[in-house]
Amino acid sequence: MKVYLDYSATTPVKPEVFNAMTPYLRDYYGNPSSLHSYGRENKKAIDTARDQIAQTLKAKPEEIFFTGGGSEADNWAIKGTAEALKNKGRHIITTSIEHHAVLHTCQHLEKQGYEVTYLPVNEEGIISVEELKSHLREDTILITIMYANNEIGTIQPIQEIAAIAKEHKVLFHTDAVQAYGHLEINTQDLPVDMISISAHKLYGPKGVGALYIRKGTRIHNLIHGGAQERKKRAGTENIAGIVGFGKAAELAYGQLTEHVNHLTELRDYLLEGIQQKIPYTRLNGHRQKRLPNNVNVSFEFIEGESMLLSLDMVGIAASSGSACTSGSLDPSHVLLSLGLSHEMAHGSLRLTLGDQNTKEEIDYVLEQLPPIVQRLRDMSPLYENLKEGAR
Ligand SMILES: *Cc1c(COP(=O)(O)O)cnc(C)c1O
Repeated sequence: MKVYLDYSATTPVKPEVFNAMTPYLRDYYGNPSSLHSYGRENKKAIDTARDQIAQTLKAKPEEIFFTGGGSEADNWAIKGTAEALKNKGRHIITTSIEHHAVLHTCQHLEKQGYEVTYLPVNEEGIISVEELKSHLREDTILITIMYANNEIGTIQPIQEIAAIAKEHKVLFHTDAVQAYGHLEINTQDLPVDMISISAHKLYGPKGVGALYIRKGTRIHNLIHGGAQERKKRAGTENIAGIVGFGKAAELAYGQLTEHVNHLTELRDYLLEGIQQKIPYTRLNGHRQKRLPNNVNVSFEFIEGESMLLSLDMVGIAASSGSACTSGSLDPSHVLLSLGLSHEMAHGSLRLTLGDQNTKEEIDYVLEQLPPIVQRLRDMSPLYENLKEGAR
């Protein structure tokens, strides 16, 4: 059996999305900026996708700007506003558990003379809004806090954060790449200025995303060149990608409740099964305030990489920490921020579900995982000591 449980790393393209995209790779090749019919057709396709995405966010179409993915949207939101507002102030507030697209951008700005406050999180991965308030200063120009975390699935108190930002007239950006397609995001109720989203995390193609920019927000360009995206993001558009993104967004929000119910049911079944069958297990992140598709656990006395390899041998695709950090030996910055020891951070397993997963697949995982954990523990000297001590 083959079971894919790494949907937070990326998702397969839905057949409907693929079908919507193919004409734009095969038949319609005009440049959307051209005045002839070849160009106009494609301009229309982009506008349709923009409408589809705007609708999911209850935004105006002219507030949606297509980018080359979630990372670009994050870079643009942060660098673009930091540059536009540098005479007003140079202080930015973020958290210690952001995606690297936000974290490394902030670190880059620190080298340019900006000051960044990295808010800590509690042991369940949530920031304190009181603490956020206490760090606001005269020269604070931007708050950038992720909607939901890609490793532990924790959902932040976004409504409260946005209200604080608005009250203090500070721009608020949220990386909603993981939240988008799982949670309702309504820009009419949520006073957020910028939102990053990405197609390949919700059954769309890779290499395309968008930045929602509320009307009137001061932001400089990241990519300079032609007049595309109302002169804010240059470059001939990735038409097929944009069309696929629009379709994927429409599908995701058209079936949101069913999708979320299905995922929540499987997630809880998987988590409870693991906790029942495997002792010395810790759930990482908040039990309730988490994405419907995220299970992240640490097994004591285990090394995550060996667990992933063993799971892969029986056809189960999972991840340990974040996909971006695997390949390096550093334990995940998110898990360390929760206060986990290096050992526990290394012993983490992230299983993220998607709409193709079935209960049979979860049963297979619950059958395969416990003996793998047991075998690896039997090889651990620390586990030996524990058993000795118990005797
Ligand atoms: C995947 C991801 C990104 C990056 O998006 P890309 O489209 O892969 O560049 C940014 N933030 C979060 C939270 C993510 O999960």
